[in-house]
Amino acid sequence: AIQTESDPAGPLRLKRSHRTLGSSDTDVDDEPDAYYDKTRGQVYRRTRFLGEGGFARVYEVTDSNNRRFAAKVVQKGTLKREKNRKKLLSEIKIHQSMIHKRVVKYHAAFEDTRSVYLILEVCENKTLMDLIKKRECLTEPEVRFYMLQILEACQYMHQHRVIHRDLKLGNLFLDQDMNIKVGDFGLAAVIVKDGERKKTICGTPNYMAPEILFDSQNGHSYEVDIWSLGIILYTMLVGRPPFATEDTKEICRKIKENDYEFPSSPPVSSAARDLVRQLLNTLPDARPTISEIRAHPFFADGYVPEKIPQLAFYEEPKFV
Ligand code: ADP
Repeated sequence: AIQTESDPAGPLRLKRSHRTLGSSDTDVDDEPDAYYDKTRGQVYRRTRFLGEGGFARVYEVTDSNNRRFAAKVVQKGTLKREKNRKKLLSEIKIHQSMIHKRVVKYHAAFEDTRSVYLILEVCENKTLMDLIKKRECLTEPEVRFYMLQILEACQYMHQHRVIHRDLKLGNLFLDQDMNIKVGDFGLAAVIVKDGERKKTICGTPNYMAPEILFDSQNGHSYEVDIWSLGIILYTMLVGRPPFATEDTKEICRKIKENDYEFPSSPPVSSAARDLVRQLLNTLPDARPTISEIRAHPFFADGYVPEKIPQLAFYEEPKFV
């Protein structure tokens, strides 16, 4: 369990250069400048802010060997709720067990009196969400490249009986070479017995499979990740998720009725549309398996780049 202990980070605190006169220790942003992993005798110095989720703040840190990591910091105030505590413990346990080149590498977890820290591989180029925000939509060769890498991660997770349950652009990280690393196992679940069905309603509305929303009695399994792949594929091609509206209730209705369309612009090939249609099948059992997805004409008959240049953040890459 996550226990409290005396604050080992105390003596390691450095003076903050940007602190102005009159600012106090009760500042909202009063993070220590270094985190101390007492068990491993390691110090992580905070270098910059990377991002923030519903649950945690993420900073870039450097260890004593000058290696860089991402530190996911969850304040203990957040963990007063049993639900959040369970979620974090499950995230740590599952993430720890996932070792694959397409998964954000987990390094360590520790705590002090104020927070719990997860030390992870740092992904220099943020997420596919950030890429789409800059580019609006991607070219089909890029989409093939990313989808094939996401499929590798998915195959690995499913072979190890893990359902991610929150696959979305914001959880698909990009390393320094623009390769995909799946992260955030906060909603992941392990299938312990063959045929077991999960009953917890969870996910991000735009990406949630219909069986999670409308068939909670029967539960859900691996196929919810396949549905999310359909949402991810559509979003990369079109620039917004297929069931997106302002109102969550309306999103749910659209998901239930499989109510989505392809706009006339940007143009989407018929192979890509067909794959989206297969992935977004309302019936979980009718969705393709990972091998079937890989064999789809969208991949088989189209160009797949070997790598994506970082320049892709600013302009359409040209593949000659
Ligand atoms: P939460 O579980 O609270 O949603 P996330 O794991 O999604 O937190 O992280 C929040 C944000 O922090 C991400 O959107 C991203 O911008 C940044 N981030 C998280 N992990 C990393 C990482 N390994 N490398 C780089 N940035 C990261």
